[in-house]
Amino acid sequence: MKKIYIILIIIVVGVVFLLSNLLLNKNTMPDLPVSTTEKQEVISKPENIQNEKSFQPPLDRASERVTKKPFGVFITPQNSPVQPENFSGYHTGTDFEIFPEEMNVDIYVHAVCSGKLAMKKMATGYGGVIVESCKLDGEPITVVYGHLKLSSIAKNIGDDLQAGDTLGILGAGYSTETSGERKHLHLGFHKGAEINPALSSKSTNSSNSTTTFGNFGTSILGYVQSQSELSGWIDPCFFVCK
Ligand SMILES: [Zn+2]
Repeated sequence: MKKIYIILIIIVVGVVFLLSNLLLNKNTMPDLPVSTTEKQEVISKPENIQNEKSFQPPLDRASERVTKKPFGVFITPQNSPVQPENFSGYHTGTDFEIFPEEMNVDIYVHAVCSGKLAMKKMATGYGGVIVESCKLDGEPITVVYGHLKLSSIAKNIGDDLQAGDTLGILGAGYSTETSGERKHLHLGFHKGAEINPALSSKSTNSSNSTTTFGNFGTSILGYVQSQSELSGWIDPCFFVCK
C-alpha cells in the first residue's frame, strides 16, 4: 500500500510540474515578442508617421548618394571633399551625388513633398533653383532644390506639386545650370513660409526692413556662418533618405 501511495505522489507531483511548466511557457513565450515589438515601435515611431510617409526621395537610391556633404557639415576650402571649393560655412542642406555612369545621363529630380511651387529662378551658387512650399508636422517649410536645369522644369510658380512628381533634370556639371558646380542635387528644408523676406509683400518696420534687406534671399542660402542660423534649417535626410 505504501508503495502505491509513493508512486501516486510521484505521478501527481510530475503532472503538477508538467502543467505548471506548460502554463509558464504559455504566459512567457508569446509575451516576449509582443513586448519587444512594442518597445521597437516606441523607439522608431516618428512624431508624425503620416508626414514621414508623405515625403518621397528626390532621386532613386537617395541614401547611397549622400557621400560628400551631409546636412550641417562645416565646410572650408581646405577641408572640403569637393575641390576646388568656393564655399565656406555650415551646409544648410544635403547634397545628393550622381553615380559615375550618370554623368551624361538625364537625372530626373522628384518633388519630395506635396505643395506649391513658390520660386523658380537662376541664382548665384545654385544655377537653376526652385523652392516648394510644404508642411512638416503641420508647420510650413520651404524646400530648396539646387543645381537644376531650369529650362527642364515644366511647372510654374503657383502650380501644385505632388510628392514624387517629376520636377526636371539636374543641370550639367560645371555649367551655368549648376553655377559652375559639379552635377549634383542640393536639397534644403528651411523652417517657415518666407522665402525672400525683402521681396514679400508683408510690411515690416524700418529696423526690420534693414535686416531683411541685408539677408536678402537668406532662406535659400546653401551655407550659413553660425549654428544659430543653421537651426533655421532641418536635415532633409530624416525624411527623404530611404
Ligand atoms: Zn549643397
